[in-house]
Amino acid sequence: METSEQTSKKKIKVGIPRALHFYRYFPFWKKLLEGLDVELILSPPTNKKIVEEGVTHGFGELCIPVKIYYGHVLKLIREHPELDYLFVPRYVSEVKEAYFCPKFLSLPDIIKILPGVPRLLNFEVNVKEFPIATSVIELGKELGRTQNQSLDAYREAQRYFDEYHKFLRDGASVNHALRLVERDRPFTLPKKKHKGDLKFLLLGHGYNIFDNFINLDFQKKLQDQGVEVFTIENMPESIFKKPVIINKRLRNYWVHEEEIMQSIRYFLTVGRGEIDGVIFLISFACGPDSLISELIMRDMKVVGLPFLKIIMDEHSGEAGLLTRVESFVEMVRRKKKKLAMDSKKKETIKI
Ligand code: SF4
Repeated sequence: METSEQTSKKKIKVGIPRALHFYRYFPFWKKLLEGLDVELILSPPTNKKIVEEGVTHGFGELCIPVKIYYGHVLKLIREHPELDYLFVPRYVSEVKEAYFCPKFLSLPDIIKILPGVPRLLNFEVNVKEFPIATSVIELGKELGRTQNQSLDAYREAQRYFDEYHKFLRDGASVNHALRLVERDRPFTLPKKKHKGDLKFLLLGHGYNIFDNFINLDFQKKLQDQGVEVFTIENMPESIFKKPVIINKRLRNYWVHEEEIMQSIRYFLTVGRGEIDGVIFLISFACGPDSLISELIMRDMKVVGLPFLKIIMDEHSGEAGLLTRVESFVEMVRRKKKKLAMDSKKKETIKI
């Protein structure tokens, strides 16, 4: 009779780089792939060596998140020669109206050329061309599963992913939620939730704002200064339903940038007064983000909401970043105090 150890040895082993869309889709991928009966192996959290290796293999103009992805792939290949596949999905379009950044469209093609890469387990999300279920069936076929088995796994993964999103909307931080997913724990909020006298919206791609190595633990720096941080993942689903019209001639085609602008539109209108400031973390050489950050900056000026844009790359320094964050927080705090005093004065005059 086979022991459980022998059974697990026979499972197909699939490596997942902890980078890029890991921070957005990992709960879905995990349930889907485990439902297709494979064993997952994740690369460790980003560290200095991973970044250095990624930078060495990534050519000059690439943004840092893609270079980091290279580093994670190389780490997985070196430490897990037993991998049968590397999971490198191709995200083209998730909704009919918008695309992912071109880097995501070509990800499997640029990873293939790295030395020693095992077979790639591709999974293409391109709802402009075909439904996700079609890609799931293809994925299952590659792993030797029937259509019904694949669709069952897909349904379960989608159900779990919805539950995960609800947990985020209830206020959980993405990193906390991902830790629970990784350890197969139920979704429970931490006992102590960080509160502060200021509330900031932190904008950016998940791989910029939740990879604490590359952003130099940015959220913690804010929290240490009494700032309560939340991200677009914590915002109600309803605000992402209506597209943002920039002006008659200019349309945004990037899916994540659309979400960023939708959340900003909320704070310019219904949610005005709910936050004290906005910070946008951008990767150096990111075309889509540099474009929309200019648009956001203009809007922020109109409503008088403090806005800080921080551009990160592999050379970002701890001391410089801390100084910028401290002075921004201080400036916002003073502004808030002054506004409170002014409104008190007005009330006294009325009396
Ligand atoms: S959106 Fe920007 S940071 Fe993200 S992969 Fe594309 S270029 Fe890089």
